[in-house]
Amino acid sequence: MAHFTRRKFMKVAGGTAAVGLAGVSPSLALAGQAHVVVIGGGYAGGVAAKYIRMLSGGKVKVTLVEKDKYYYSCPLSNWVIAGFRDIEAQKWSWAKAADAHGYSVVHDEAVGIDAKAKTVKLRGGSTLNYDRLIVAPGVGFKKNIEGYDTKAMVKMPHAWKAGLQTTLLAKQMEAMPDGGTAIVVPPENPFRCPPGPYERVSLMAWYIKRYKPKSKVLVLDPKDKFSKFGLFTGGWKELYGYGTDNSIIEWVAAGQGGKVTAVDADNMTVMTDMDEFKGDVVSVIPNNTAGAIAHSAGLTNGGDWCSVNKQTFESTSHPGVHVIGDSSIAAKMPKSGYAANSQAKVVADAVVQMLAGKEPGTGSYVNTCYSMLSPDYGISVAAVYKLKGDTISKVGGGLSPGKASAAYRKVEADNNESWYQSIMADTFT
Ligand code: FAD
Repeated sequence: MAHFTRRKFMKVAGGTAAVGLAGVSPSLALAGQAHVVVIGGGYAGGVAAKYIRMLSGGKVKVTLVEKDKYYYSCPLSNWVIAGFRDIEAQKWSWAKAADAHGYSVVHDEAVGIDAKAKTVKLRGGSTLNYDRLIVAPGVGFKKNIEGYDTKAMVKMPHAWKAGLQTTLLAKQMEAMPDGGTAIVVPPENPFRCPPGPYERVSLMAWYIKRYKPKSKVLVLDPKDKFSKFGLFTGGWKELYGYGTDNSIIEWVAAGQGGKVTAVDADNMTVMTDMDEFKGDVVSVIPNNTAGAIAHSAGLTNGGDWCSVNKQTFESTSHPGVHVIGDSSIAAKMPKSGYAANSQAKVVADAVVQMLAGKEPGTGSYVNTCYSMLSPDYGISVAAVYKLKGDTISKVGGGLSPGKASAAYRKVEADNNESWYQSIMADTFT
């Protein structure tokens, strides 16, 4: 088992998450038997499990409860849909990190949380006791589109949780006739990866331009604007004739009747307030909400997301339970993998401090989000955040330039892959 010193941690965290570590002494005050259970091993939970082990010098016992045997990453999964990445490059296992850092992985689904008794019930029948619990189940879906049920998801994949849904959509793109229409239905705010649907649209357009030039992508949007709007639409003009009669992409905003209210999956039709559209490929992303366990455990208080104390991400309703990643309200941070990673490190430190009977520090956070408009055309947005009052506010950052050379866009595309390899190594090794 690897031990990690404070100096090494600061080096690793670097710009990723600078947290107040003053006074951490793993040999002091920690009960020795303290047990942290983490539900969900994604960008948030996987990182929290590892960093609690590192920051406590291996003194805190950590059990990660993860329902799946393998993790399929959403970041870069739109590349699979456009056929220029293999799904295997998205597949990760916890075995290496668990072994290296000494946490246990239980492959089971958490189905109940008793915050008073400090227990987690698993679908397999067992119960885990904890001193502190971290809940990181990602997102679930709302039923905002009539007819979009589990059966419809097979015909009109959301591909908003990577894996089978991703390969399904990729195969449907491959099978689409030249001259066909691919429809993308993005969700309403807030949702995981705000630029994600528009990266998908861009890469579908790239695929069409290359392999099925008589086809189109139609975007039926419940919003009038979206993340990196100028960069996306500028790139679409440059690459796909956006705004001309020959555009591969047609984007219908809410104000023009883009809001989808119902689908008929058997007939591959999509209904908006004003019209009905037929697609050969249809990707419907319903509105997002916190993961199911967050709802059933009462962590959302009947709302869509989990309200947390912004310093420690401890639930405002369930003491001893911290919610990180997509399920929490971490405004104004977006719901992204990088944001989840950053939150996990701050919360890992807070949990170690609290178990030691010490005051947690105040974290700062970072998020960089790359999007691809073609395999050689990347754009990005980066921001640093700090807690100000009750809000995690942006204190710095930047956006790719509106006008840039092809070489510049290519460098950003290459940086996207480097970012991915480094964050996955941070999570899974
Ligand atoms: P997840 O990564 O979804 O992890 C949740 C885990 O919890 C899963 O492994 C799940 O199996 C497990 N789980 C859920 N419920 C239970 C339960 N009851 N018991 C046990 N286990 C459970 N972000 C970026 O930063 N950069 C990008 O380029 C980017 N691109 C994206 C592209 C797409 C197409 C999509 C959809 C998203 C993208 N994102 C990106 C967003 C990113 O994927 C999410 O923000 C990130 O995965 C959130 O991490 P999380 O740990 O909260 O949830």
